[in-house]
Amino acid sequence: TDTILEVSNLKMHFPVKAGIMQRTVGHVKAVDGITFTLKRGETLGIVGESGCGKSTLGRAIIRLYTPTSGKILFNNQDITTTPEGELRKSVRRQMQMIFQDPFASLNPRKSLGTSIMEPLKTHHYGNSPERKEKVEELLDTVGLDRSYANRYPHEFSGGQRQRIGIARALALNPELMIADEPVSALDVSIQAQIINLMEDLQDRYNLTYLFISHDLGVVRHISDRVGVMYLGNMMELANKHDLYKEPMHPYTQALMSAVPVPRKKGQIKRERIILSGDLPSPSNPPKGCVFHTRCPAAMDICKQQIPKFQEVQPDHYVACHLYE
Ligand code: SF4
Ligand code: MG
Repeated sequence: TDTILEVSNLKMHFPVKAGIMQRTVGHVKAVDGITFTLKRGETLGIVGESGCGKSTLGRAIIRLYTPTSGKILFNNQDITTTPEGELRKSVRRQMQMIFQDPFASLNPRKSLGTSIMEPLKTHHYGNSPERKEKVEELLDTVGLDRSYANRYPHEFSGGQRQRIGIARALALNPELMIADEPVSALDVSIQAQIINLMEDLQDRYNLTYLFISHDLGVVRHISDRVGVMYLGNMMELANKHDLYKEPMHPYTQALMSAVPVPRKKGQIKRERIILSGDLPSPSNPPKGCVFHTRCPAAMDICKQQIPKFQEVQPDHYVACHLYE
């Protein structure tokens, strides 16, 4: 399998300004040195609590931001600082984003047909009747009636709106889809339908997904591999079976202990690990291991040295001094 995305030491810092002069007094280190690769056709789930930087990571990769440093290779092309005009020529089409609230990206006064047609127009897809035909095909593909093209966003339920969001994202035949909490606002039964749709579309179009969510259960269901973020850093990344069965990083262990796991005979029941202390501010993250202020296994070295994010078992990466 080939690599579609390579992210190395990616940082996305935002300046914090204060005073009348709006001087920069510090930086929010939303993403602070993330490295991973994504194979074509796979789903990488990114989990973490709110504020861990997972959404910023997605937005930086899709170049809604220009990263502070590091590198993003998309189809072997360095897009880290590519200007918007250049991105628009191909990359913008090939990477699409699905948001938590598709309604926010739909104009309430425009029919669905018009909304879905917009990206087609922007990217000069066919003539008017061809675009109309394409919109109907897309509605079909995401399981909506073709006649919906003439209706308006307020007429649809949350699940239907997310199908519309997906149809829009699909319009230009993208290769990579970045989904940021795409089912978090939906009822559980509807969540499953949208996840199933995403899986069908992935098979059909060989799509690659970066699936961002705080929901460990949803991520487990859809992902091939899963990465765990904390305070802008990737703590652990592995095949989902290994990660859920045998989490190695103390933070992952704590996260996992909080979810009821469906147990088969012979499996060990996990003790709930309660983390002490509050989540530190990403504008003033702890020195050394960013997790050391809350880690039940913290050692002296953890306060001084940043643990390397390294492969400790085949395809299982951990950033923790316990494994160095
Ligand atoms: Fe805990 Fe130290 Fe490992 Fe960080 S490096 S997770 S503080 S043991
Ligand atoms: Mg998500």
